[in-house]
Amino acid sequence: RKSSFATVSPYTGDTLAEFPQIEGEEVDSALETAGHAFDAWRKRPIGERAAVLGRAAELMRERREPLAQLLTQEMGKLISEARGEVDLAASILSYYAEHGPAFAADEPLDVEEGEAYLVNEPLGVLLGVMPWNFPYYQVVRFAGPNVVVGNTVLVKHAGICPQSALALETLFRDAGAPEGVYTNLFVSHDEVSRIIDSPVVRGASLTGSERAGAQVAERAGRNMKPSLLELGGSDVFIVLDGEGLERTVGAAVAGRMANTGQSCVASKRFIVLEDVYDDFVAGMRRAFEALEPGDPSDEATTLGPLSSEQAAADLADQIRETVDQGAELVIGGGRIDRPGAFVEPTILTGVKPGMRAYAEELFGPAAVIYRVADEDEAIALANDSQYGLGGSVFCSDVDRARRVAERVETGMIWINHPTSTQADLPFGGIKRSGYGRELSKLGMREFVNRKLVRVL
Ligand code: NDP
Repeated sequence: RKSSFATVSPYTGDTLAEFPQIEGEEVDSALETAGHAFDAWRKRPIGERAAVLGRAAELMRERREPLAQLLTQEMGKLISEARGEVDLAASILSYYAEHGPAFAADEPLDVEEGEAYLVNEPLGVLLGVMPWNFPYYQVVRFAGPNVVVGNTVLVKHAGICPQSALALETLFRDAGAPEGVYTNLFVSHDEVSRIIDSPVVRGASLTGSERAGAQVAERAGRNMKPSLLELGGSDVFIVLDGEGLERTVGAAVAGRMANTGQSCVASKRFIVLEDVYDDFVAGMRRAFEALEPGDPSDEATTLGPLSSEQAAADLADQIRETVDQGAELVIGGGRIDRPGAFVEPTILTGVKPGMRAYAEELFGPAAVIYRVADEDEAIALANDSQYGLGGSVFCSDVDRARRVAERVETGMIWINHPTSTQADLPFGGIKRSGYGRELSKLGMREFVNRKLVRVL
């Protein structure tokens, strides 16, 4: 499929900006520049590299409002959430500016004779293929640690958020990153493959769909280059008791509806023990009914459009087909009858193996709620998924929640809070949700040569 780079408002459907793609020699020249930049960048003292990131964080905070508005315009994020994303992205840049040098320091090894230690050396030019759902956050969690450790990055951002993509490149340049340290590339999928083949490129990181992830990882594997994949998820939200149910329902609604449901770690499968089930469903229904669709730049709006017309059509198809397959609708079920990429807040119950919503990720405002008899059934259902990203367990007895959490097969599990993200906590999954970890100290360990030095 041919990519295009254009801002199409998902609220109005209007095309607001278009950008030409580059290919062939222009791409080769960008690769060459990034390669030369690496040679110089890796030699700079790490404190200087960290200072550039610190300055980028400051600029991000100064530009908070225009940066937030771009997100709202390009992918329909509610303006308050867009500001929150800018703050989160700035916090990640600050975090690596502050802690990056310590994370990259030499690590002595315990040996009986002589001396041994690990040196964390950068690998070179990296390619990041990035999605539209958190256009700043996803990119900085890749670029932040890598730029500090001395790698240089090429970013192929999603076609629907080109202005956010350019804003990030400008941010790094204005923060003092030399040309080639952070390069935005408006390129096609075919060019992505060619870039991975280039000997200049030493690794690839992708956040997005399984389809895209498999293609990028396959290409990297063929070239024997490391890759990191952060793909979809179908996180569970397990409710073990009814104590503080109002708070639990509030968390469930936030976990499902943040970013209009378009998050890899959104709570998607609600697994509720039977004595709480009816009250939980009623609480979710009331909260979903109260959501007000509207202009995402209006502070009063509580339900934004999805990121694109295609995304809304795809989700509506998944819901319709699941209902055709025999599931029940508690509320919602289709498109909202108004212009824009809106889908009704939807709750599905009676979802069984073989139905689309049982196995697939629902990337939008649609929750599936399951009734289970006991913990064992909850865990079996939770683990009957191709995904293994995040998840959460709610229970007033934290030890009981912990015991259940330990049996859920995911890369992350939160107790009494929907899965979330912050600079100092690792993020990543298992199974078809991908591999590798971003953020925290672990996020700086993915694309480094942990070189052994042995002195005898
Ligand atoms: P994609 O995976 O298609 O998009 C993510 C990024 O990958 C974009 O930059 C895209 O470019 C690029 N890409 C896609 N295919 C290739 C390829 N063959 N070679 C190189 N780059 C490629 O996601 P969609 O936007 O299509 O969303 C589909 C579904 O993916 C969602 O409904 C959701 O389930 C999941 N998803 C998960 C995300 C997460 O946070 N884990 C984020 C986004 C999506 P371009 O935009 O130019 O096509």
